[in-house]
Parts: sequence; structure tokens; C-alpha cells
Amino acid sequence: VALVVLKTRADLINWRLNIAPKKRVGFVPTMGALHLGHATLLRQARLENDFVVLSIFVNPTQFGVNEDLDRYPRALAEDLRIAESEKVDVVFAPDVSEMYPTGHSTFVEETEFSKGLCGDFRPGHFRGVATVVLKLFNLVRPGRSYFGLKDAQQFLVISKMVLDLNLDIKMIGVPTVREADGLAMSSRNRGLSKEDREKAPEIYRSLLRVTQGSSSIAQEIDVLSKLDFKVQYYERRPFESGHLVAIAAYLGSTRLIDNILG
Ligand code: AMP
Repeated sequence: VALVVLKTRADLINWRLNIAPKKRVGFVPTMGALHLGHATLLRQARLENDFVVLSIFVNPTQFGVNEDLDRYPRALAEDLRIAESEKVDVVFAPDVSEMYPTGHSTFVEETEFSKGLCGDFRPGHFRGVATVVLKLFNLVRPGRSYFGLKDAQQFLVISKMVLDLNLDIKMIGVPTVREADGLAMSSRNRGLSKEDREKAPEIYRSLLRVTQGSSSIAQEIDVLSKLDFKVQYYERRPFESGHLVAIAAYLGSTRLIDNILG
């Protein structure tokens, strides 16, 4: 069966209405510029569902005014090739006007897990994420939805929204997929200069030193700063039954995040 690419809410609702009620729908929301991290979510969704829906939408409401919305990478043609090879059933790739028609005035705000970490440095970010994900959930009506644990705080915020708003969706968290040198895969890695790309895996090596106890967070902030990383936060905090060591740092104009769950 060929990949179906839909651009409008009406077409997606129509597709959803025409599949048998008992069929399992797995959903992978993304902002495109797909890589092996996204493909890993798609593969897990493919194994656990009858239909796999992938959304590709660079959501303006989750970007702050001075953030990288305009230079966020876009690669739809290549994304569709990846979607096809991962046996995705439906790609939903709406325009901004389709998701936010003129006059859109409702937003969803999770007020606990969205505090701290990225929430402190990206005001309104998780509000934008929760809003678009709920809008997408309501169109796709998945049984399961797949999120990467690289964005651990996002996973917590969306999971809490699902719980608080009584959504009947199983949240599946997928471990971070890394390059061979340890760098967490990210669409934003495309924006790194050659030199910064070589430096970037130091973030993961640093996280390993902290979680293995051979160095402290304070020492590591120093180490990374000397290598020209601009560290926004580097923190240990509780996560589900264990804990999370999470970092956000700029390298040049590229914001990188990573974490280790233990
Ligand atoms: P994005 O397109 O960056 O918004 O990411 C879409 C989904 O893919 C989110 O659930 C991310 O957490 C997940 N994701 C992104 N990068 C990775 C990665 N390296 N490993 C696992 N999941 C990822």
C-alpha cells in the first residue's frame, strides 16, 4: 500500500472515520527533518499497531520570539522517503494556517512538569507543545503515541496532560538514539559547523562522567564552558521511579539538549 500524504484536517478526519473501529492507530508527532531517532519511534509504532500516523509540523507556538523557527530545518521530500521506507500509513503535514486558522485563541497549559529545566529558558514552549499535541491527538485519535526520551520533560508534560484531561492514549517513551560518537540525534544537529559537530558529543561524555560519579555537575559546567558551550542548565532531578540528569547548552547558535535516565 502506498503512503498517504494529507494536508488538511478534513482529509485526516475522513481517513480516521473510514478505518475499522477495532484497528489500532499508533501516532508519532514530529517537526520533520527526520533522522534515525524518529525512525526508531516509527519502527516501534509499526510493531504495535495496525496503522501508523506520522505528523510533520513545525509548530510556531512552541518557539519563542528569539528562537530558531525560521531556520528550523525543513526537508519534506526526504522525510516522505523515510516515511515510506518505515511503512508509515499516513503522513499528516498541514500548513500553519490549517492548524492555527485566524482567530485561534485556545491553549493548553500543564503547570507542574513544565516548570524548571527547558520551561525556565523557553517561556511558553510547553504550552505550545501541549496545545499542538492535543490538537493532533484529537484529529488522529491514536491508541498509542510515541515520544523520545531525549525530550524527557516534554514526555512528562504530555503524559500529565493525557492523565489530567482523561485522554485514552497510551504514552510510549522511546530511549534516545545516538550517533556513533554519542551525540543525541536531533534535527538541530544539521545546524552545527564542522568544528562544533566534532565538539558536540562532549555533552554526552560529560553526562556519563556525572552519572558514573567521576565528576560533579559543577565541575562539568566548568569543563563545558571552557570548550565554549554556553550551558543553560545542568541538573539532576527525580524522574518517575529514578532520576534524570539533564543539560541544555548552546554550541554556536545551536541549542542542544540531552539527558541520562537512571
Ligand atoms: P522533533 O521532530 O524533534 O520534535 O521530535 C519528534 C519526536 O522524536 C519527539 O518525541 C522526540 O523526542 C523524538 N526524538 C527526537 N530525537 C530523538 C532521538 N535522538 N532519539 C529518540 N527520539 C527522538
